[in-house]
Amino acid sequence: MKIVIGYLYSDLMNIYGDTGNIIALTKRTQWREVEVKLKVKSLKSKIKKGECDLYFFGGGQDQAQQLVASDLESSGKGKVIKQEVERGVPLLSICGGYQLLGEYYKPHKGPKLPGIGLFPIYTEASYDRMIGNLVIESMFDKLVGFENHSGKTFLKKGADSLGMVIQGFGNNGKDKTEGCLYKNAIGCYMHGSLLPKNPKLADWLLQKALEIKYGKQIELKPLDDTLELQAHQKAISRFSK
Ligand code: GLN
Repeated sequence: MKIVIGYLYSDLMNIYGDTGNIIALTKRTQWREVEVKLKVKSLKSKIKKGECDLYFFGGGQDQAQQLVASDLESSGKGKVIKQEVERGVPLLSICGGYQLLGEYYKPHKGPKLPGIGLFPIYTEASYDRMIGNLVIESMFDKLVGFENHSGKTFLKKGADSLGMVIQGFGNNGKDKTEGCLYKNAIGCYMHGSLLPKNPKLADWLLQKALEIKYGKQIELKPLDDTLELQAHQKAISRFSK
């Protein structure tokens, strides 16, 4: 078997260790003797339907987000990403990437940036910088990461959050929600990087990618996650109140 990971805007949207998620996905695939290929999809590049089995979209500053927001529209990548997620292709987006997959992101300065409308959310920059460790309760049990954003994200009616905040700010520091889950696509504010110390989420993404690609139930070979789970527990014990 083989997995093709689509790495969106890796040159522009990759802050606070987000590329560690690509390393975790790559290694966890290789440790199962599954071939993995990385395809970077940045400015002006095209995406064909079925070309990638899993997408990753990291965080970025407002300037990069302006460039990326218009490219998502002008290159047609936004439309294809939406179609791919609709048929079940998994996607993980963090912070700045997450914000551009909603309805819009309104930065402090300049015009509202159009999102691709994948997640039923919208984001507006605030004057509070939400920085620190973030622990949430989710369908993957506890997830732990690090957040650093001024944007406040609000879920529209009927939207599903990724989970509820135990420690930290999450989507907006007000409604205790964190992230958004739509089909097999996840948006969240957890940098860090997220996947190395949340192996359950990493494997969920890989399993979904293989199941959609090969059209059958897939059981991933269990890995020895002693170290990953030690890091996970350490982070949770250190961060929770
Ligand atoms: N520029 C956005 C914000 O500040 C996203 C930042 C990020 O990706 N960490 O909210």
